[in-house]
Amino acid sequence: MVRIDQLLAQAAQIDSPTAQLDTELLLAFVLDKPRSYLYAWPDKTVDEAHVAAFMALVERRQRGEPVAYLLGRQGFWTLDLEVAEHTLIPRADSELLVETALQLADDSSVRKVLDLGTGTGALALALASERPLWSVTGVDRIESAVALAQSNQRHLQLTNVQFLHSHWFSALSGQRYDLILSNPPYIAANDPHLQQGDVRFEPLSALVSGVDGLDDIREIIVQAPSYLTAAGWLLLEHGFDQAHAVRQLLGGAGFIDVYSRRDLSGHERISLGRLPSLS
Ligand code: GLN
Repeated sequence: MVRIDQLLAQAAQIDSPTAQLDTELLLAFVLDKPRSYLYAWPDKTVDEAHVAAFMALVERRQRGEPVAYLLGRQGFWTLDLEVAEHTLIPRADSELLVETALQLADDSSVRKVLDLGTGTGALALALASERPLWSVTGVDRIESAVALAQSNQRHLQLTNVQFLHSHWFSALSGQRYDLILSNPPYIAANDPHLQQGDVRFEPLSALVSGVDGLDDIREIIVQAPSYLTAAGWLLLEHGFDQAHAVRQLLGGAGFIDVYSRRDLSGHERISLGRLPSLS
């Protein structure tokens, strides 16, 4: 019989900066217990079926599969979200988009919000959960992502958000939003970073955007003014070295008050601007 503390020693087999945490998350998941249980009961023995299930997950993690895909879940903002292999795994860096949108806009200045390329629904659901008076729409061009976002919405029981199938603005003709945000694909096609870590297992459609990584951002910036209200905001996540280019694109499309904000690692990670007011 194998004890919990012996199983946790499997962390040594995993080549990841978060090996200990990864191992705890996998064992707690297999045992269907909170992580604290592992520390409360280190001497407890685990039956063979659970040991086998745990070891199979450890092996997949050793091959590099992201913990979020192994668990089928990922925390984002205050939410616990279901994830799947056809969507990007929500990242802490993207919480900056949520935080900024909440700071920019109180309930009276914003009514309608759009999240482009919503994936799991993370950004749309986080905003809807914080602002019950907002009406939030999330769109994705991948139908299975729309279904996943809708499933997350059902579990979170949020009624002020809807998810639609749309390639950027294609299904939104005639609509206007007070705030549009997006974490689009923004990695350059030949970026060596695509061969490392979690991104190796994520869908390229959520990651890669042309030779300089800016194809989708350019398309969104050009089209967004037709879907924004006067003084409406556009917020975009981008690569650590793209802030200058994105600010120039925003300025060129008529956005004002353009600036960038830094993520938790100090990189300029999002840029934003608003349309002029009608006067
Ligand atoms: N931030 C992710 C990464 O570099 C990429 C996400 C994206 O392309 N939108 O790992």
